[in-house]
Amino acid sequence: MTKNKTHWGPATQMVHSGSLRSQYGETSEAMFLTQGFVYDSAEAAEARFKGEDDGYVYSRYANPTVAMFEERMCALEGAEAAKATASGMAAVSAALLCQLQAGDHVVAARALFGSCRWIVEKLLPTYGIETTLIDGTDPNAWEKASRPNTKVFFFESPTNPTLEVIDIAHVVSVARSCGAKVVLDNVFATPIFQKPMELGVDIVVYSTTKHIDGQGRCLGGVILADQEWVDEKLYDFYRHTGPSMSPFNAWVMLKGLETLPLRVREQTRNAAAIADFLAEHKGIKKVVYPGRADHPQANIIPKQMSGGSTLICFEMKGGKQAAFAMENALEIIKLSNNLGDSKSLITHPATTTHKNLSEEDRAELGINEGTVRFSVGLEDTKDLIGDLEQALSKAV
Ligand SMILES: *Cc1c(COP(=O)(O)O)cnc(C)c1O
Repeated sequence: MTKNKTHWGPATQMVHSGSLRSQYGETSEAMFLTQGFVYDSAEAAEARFKGEDDGYVYSRYANPTVAMFEERMCALEGAEAAKATASGMAAVSAALLCQLQAGDHVVAARALFGSCRWIVEKLLPTYGIETTLIDGTDPNAWEKASRPNTKVFFFESPTNPTLEVIDIAHVVSVARSCGAKVVLDNVFATPIFQKPMELGVDIVVYSTTKHIDGQGRCLGGVILADQEWVDEKLYDFYRHTGPSMSPFNAWVMLKGLETLPLRVREQTRNAAAIADFLAEHKGIKKVVYPGRADHPQANIIPKQMSGGSTLICFEMKGGKQAAFAMENALEIIKLSNNLGDSKSLITHPATTTHKNLSEEDRAELGINEGTVRFSVGLEDTKDLIGDLEQALSKAV
């Protein structure tokens, strides 16, 4: 396996790290589409099951193509160990459930991806795990919510869909003082622009469905942490509950990683130009874009992010009616709730991704009837601005 060379830049790592060549010397990573592995003898099988040799046993536990993807993710993240999962939600639920038990307490920022919020608010309490949702941008809220039995702090930054930024180093320092582990969902920042482990985060999770695939094909997820945590907390849970990533999907994700830095940088360059265009438009009340000087946490961003975002959140003056009219008039930009894709995708959170929250809960998150989330793709900047311009002219 081509191990992570620490002096390599991220672009080189994304093309080479983790590659495992068969005896044929293939250029592109091989897809080991196999459930099981054949042993040379009964003794060899016995030794493999005893853990005396480190070959593969069964693809629910580990698989060579999946291992290449995990190793490449470790190189990108600066992590010791990783396990890939079938979806982002499999990564989030495994990362939380594997380390929690009845009587434990979790503090989470309330601005969470819908299914993440369901796990914290609805699922964990049914197993006797107490949870507290807070405003993650309030620096005092983390300490105030902590209890002697607090085991995990969980959050996203930037958040979905309002792109608020939470001070990661601060959350880590509060967690250290109360002995809690920090779990960060780093999807919105991407591994290109934010390195949570350098800021002390213990466990990083991704939905690889988003920027890592980046071309709308496969679901996937990954959990990254130190080797000891993966061995002691995650490994048995993963092996016996089976959230494993398919080798086919791992192969697609490996190919996605090769172009990830290029795509994320180009989509961000597009997004920054479009955010400036939107901020000047008369039909728009407000634009939230990490990288603009008017972002509510503009002072925290340079401490933890090395780039802006491929996502823009904006609010139409004319509320739902204007948002719907604009969406319906778009020609290039597609209406879809995915994000991080090479195709530009737009969504109206109040009626789609966040429809299950009460109106008060949405208001607390800053989502109202005019809020629109825009995931910027790889199309030409002028075509995207042109599409928004003609659609907005029909809506305001
Ligand atoms: C999409 C997403 C998830 C869930 O990922 P799936 O691959 O759809 O299961 C979790 N967290 C965030 C921030 C996401 O955007």
